Amino acid sequence: MTFDEPGPYVISDGSPSSVDHSKREFLRLAAALLAGMNLPQLCLAEAGRQGAGGSGQRVVLVIFGGVRRAETFSPAGLENIPHLSADLLPKAAFYANARNDGVTAHFNAISSILTGNWQRVDDWGKLAPTTPTLFEQFRKRLGAARSDTWVVASNKALTSQIGASSASDYGPGFGANVVFPKQLMIAAVANAIRAGRTRDMANRAKIETELENMLESGNYEGLGWTVADAANQMDPHVRGTIDDAIIRFVRGGGPTSGDELTFLVSREIMRQFSPRLLVVVFSDVEVAHFGSYAMHVAGIRTGDRLTYQLWHEIESNFEYQGKTTMIVLPEFGRDPDGSTTNGFFNHRSDAESTRSTWAMVLGTAVDKPQIIDRPVRHVDLCPTLAGLLGCPPMESQGSQLIELRV
Ligand SMILES: [Zn+2]
Repeated sequence: MTFDEPGPYVISDGSPSSVDHSKREFLRLAAALLAGMNLPQLCLAEAGRQGAGGSGQRVVLVIFGGVRRAETFSPAGLENIPHLSADLLPKAAFYANARNDGVTAHFNAISSILTGNWQRVDDWGKLAPTTPTLFEQFRKRLGAARSDTWVVASNKALTSQIGASSASDYGPGFGANVVFPKQLMIAAVANAIRAGRTRDMANRAKIETELENMLESGNYEGLGWTVADAANQMDPHVRGTIDDAIIRFVRGGGPTSGDELTFLVSREIMRQFSPRLLVVVFSDVEVAHFGSYAMHVAGIRTGDRLTYQLWHEIESNFEYQGKTTMIVLPEFGRDPDGSTTNGFFNHRSDAESTRSTWAMVLGTAVDKPQIIDRPVRHVDLCPTLAGLLGCPPMESQGSQLIELRV
């Protein structure tokens, strides 16, 4: 498969506006359908409360999809990131040149960040990373519970393989909970249709059509969501809690994009489970693969706002305030204008525009707000975060970031 060519995988008429309309229409109809369902009482989880080793510090890692410096931290880009640049930058340790020197495809990029080693596995997440993830280090070395480690993601190029490596002595037994909220929402809607929980047959037929459209369109990474894939390794109780939360969100008027849903589910997980290590992967910006610059920029603005809202949750949630470090970074940039790969559509050029972006660190690891010009690499993050969580030193191609209080 050619890596994220926009054209051939786009079903429906392929125009961004029709995709956007279809998404909104789906959410509207899904809300109508789910409004008729009786929900079980939301059950508060107690898992993960038991003491485990470590520093007592918490880490929230926000990964942003592919955005260029030109559309973000550049004079022309600042208007797209008002919260990151005006509200958060003044408190941050800001790395102005954070580099992806590995594979600039989603699964590999995120795996490299999470393992501290450049990963070259399947682009579509069919194979797990080959060296231990931060989740496995944290759980195996310090006895942290599964419910202390989460990945919540909108990105369709990820699979549940992102939660644990194939390394011997580690693996899924030490892995994270991995949640794809949009996929779970689709599964919840499909279940509701199957169970016939709506009396309005006309509406039901319409929503079935919209569900099919939803599964087939918006397919900009060359992968579709499938209902069957929604089942994963998650504990049934945990899964039930998340399902309920999603249904409540949709019933309450519904989030309007994949990233909105990812944010709402992440916040719910913070409130219900208080994980000590939470990874949130936004990806509305990846609509760029359709070629709509306006929608790509709208995705940046959404990510900017949701990242700020996550920081607000950290500052106001008793389990997180004063003991949390939040790191925000793109997976990579995007290709330069005028490139043979269609510029911002893609992220596969071996060019500075694609490899060099930025990283922002907020919270307890920040000694003093500063801008750091020296180049750092994505593989430096994992040993740094492992240190913050209290893990002993790990094998990594990266090195701890010396500007942070680890
Ligand atoms: Zn992409």
